[in-house]
Amino acid sequence: MNVIIFGPPGAGKGTQSDFIVKKFNLFKLSTGDLLRDEIKKKSSLGVEITSIVNSGSLVSDEIINGLIENFVSNDNYKNKIIFDGYPRNLPQAENLEKLLHKHKQNINLVIKLKVSLDTIKKRITGRIACSKCGNTYNIFFNPPKEASGCCQKQFLIKREDDNVDVASKRFETYEESTEPVIDFYNKMGLVRDVNGETDIDVIYSEISSYLNVIEGWHYKITSYKYVFYNLYPINYGPNSRN
Ligand SMILES: [Zn+2]
Repeated sequence: MNVIIFGPPGAGKGTQSDFIVKKFNLFKLSTGDLLRDEIKKKSSLGVEITSIVNSGSLVSDEIINGLIENFVSNDNYKNKIIFDGYPRNLPQAENLEKLLHKHKQNINLVIKLKVSLDTIKKRITGRIACSKCGNTYNIFFNPPKEASGCCQKQFLIKREDDNVDVASKRFETYEESTEPVIDFYNKMGLVRDVNGETDIDVIYSEISSYLNVIEGWHYKITSYKYVFYNLYPINYGPNSRN
């Protein structure tokens, strides 16, 4: 199965996609990683990318598409991909469809993590860290417990780059650019909304339940057989216990 996960910056998308990657044996495709890997490999394309990035320009769609095609056509990753942060706009989504069809695949599910701007603001502005041990907290969601070791009021500091204006801007950009992409996948009936405002575990189990449906009638049928066998241990064949 191939999955896409969408969510505004600060929604916890990275955390959730890491969980999913582990549980469902998927491979994460993020364009940032693809570019970094290519640079690290020092291939001729990698050298080209390095010079583009150093000059402050944006890497062209052509280069990105080429890297994505290499990934989706790789037999190790086929039908085991979670797209994180891609596609960002409608042309990219249409291009991805073409690429996947060319390599006999498609998108099976689109997870949309929904988090309000208000919550994201609180997550950012509430963030504090203990200057002694480095533990991080959030004054709204995860306040430090009274008298918990070194994490006393006088040692708790806010990071300066936890900026609400920047966060609001990024949120707006996300909403504007992904709306047509979500519409595109909605028409295919692939989008599942997930409330991203609850606990990490709750969010994860909701996402997992959607993925389980896609992944496995085979798995389910096998486990039902097991349950029935134990409830009604009649003769199921030569290896049956009765
Ligand atoms: Zn501390």
